[in-house]
Amino acid sequence: MSRLRIAILGATGSIGSQALDVIDRYPDRFEVFGLLAGSRPLDRDARFAIRAADVDAAARTEEMVTHPDCDVVVTAIPGARALAPTLAALRAGKVVALATKEVLVMAGELVMTEAHQRLRPVDSEHSAVWQCLWGEHIDSVSRLVLTASGGPFYARPEVDLERATVAEALNHPRWTMGPKVTVDSATLMNKGLELIEAHHLFGVALDRIDVVIHPQSIVHSMVEFIDGSSKAQLGQPDMRLPIAVALAYPDRLRGVVEPLSVPTLGSLDFAPLDPVRFPAPGLARRAAASGAPYPAVLNAVNEEAVGAFLRGEIRFPGILRAVESALEHYRGSGSSLEEIMEADRWARDYFKEIAGKVSP
Ligand code: MG
Repeated sequence: MSRLRIAILGATGSIGSQALDVIDRYPDRFEVFGLLAGSRPLDRDARFAIRAADVDAAARTEEMVTHPDCDVVVTAIPGARALAPTLAALRAGKVVALATKEVLVMAGELVMTEAHQRLRPVDSEHSAVWQCLWGEHIDSVSRLVLTASGGPFYARPEVDLERATVAEALNHPRWTMGPKVTVDSATLMNKGLELIEAHHLFGVALDRIDVVIHPQSIVHSMVEFIDGSSKAQLGQPDMRLPIAVALAYPDRLRGVVEPLSVPTLGSLDFAPLDPVRFPAPGLARRAAASGAPYPAVLNAVNEEAVGAFLRGEIRFPGILRAVESALEHYRGSGSSLEEIMEADRWARDYFKEIAGKVSP
């Protein structure tokens, strides 16, 4: 079998470095074709080795992801700038292993019309749903159930979120991830974005996608079928597993992570979501129900607000106050790339206007 040649967008980030780890461990299956790196040094060679700061980074990235010798693109750069290269890769017929949920949140309709079964989820919840759906007919699905660890604050009702510090928000109990997604896990906006992502990826209506709190992060998500049966995917909370599943599909690779020791797992806990203390999934549902480009507005304001929180400029609950305010003030519609990017710009400008007011 010829080896899959893989380009990684975000090669020095958390997902990117774990993808490199998977590639290096299965050299008979995979090889590195190209790398796009952010601010951290890129200490390995590839046919394309692009730094995000390079003046020609966008053009060379497009050249890399559409190159005839590139088989698979791993999208793992955070935020809106992942959208253009992901669309370019799909339009060029590549398989895309998608870790950046913003791509489907911003432009779900547009991306899915180009996906043609070549878009594979890397997000652990969506990988779980995808694996549960293998061999099933989509008409047999009654609900998707996304699990949420709850992040650092869910199990600590005593914490005053108005006083939550950056260090506390970054102290995720289960997963080691980049700062943006870790703060999103603390607000539960991560789960809100995942609801929208799942809706587009699997074509299931939002009111048939539930969120359940599961602090151990062992059950990565579930699918409920029309006959009352449910399937769940379980595994170590280790992103190398969904990365390997996406890269090797339809095969499974031997020994990606340690299997679960079920007899010593103890109990697995599940609890309903508290929508009052954690309004983010509800905001995401509202944005998605309003149609494109409202989810892009939600995403862009959230991205700006999380950045401001990480820089100490706004308080933790200011993130969602900004998102809610933007959704209330935005007026517009349209799902073309231009309309989505216009909504994205509006939302970022809007955040700059209100940043001083959301965090008294
Ligand atoms: Mg996830």
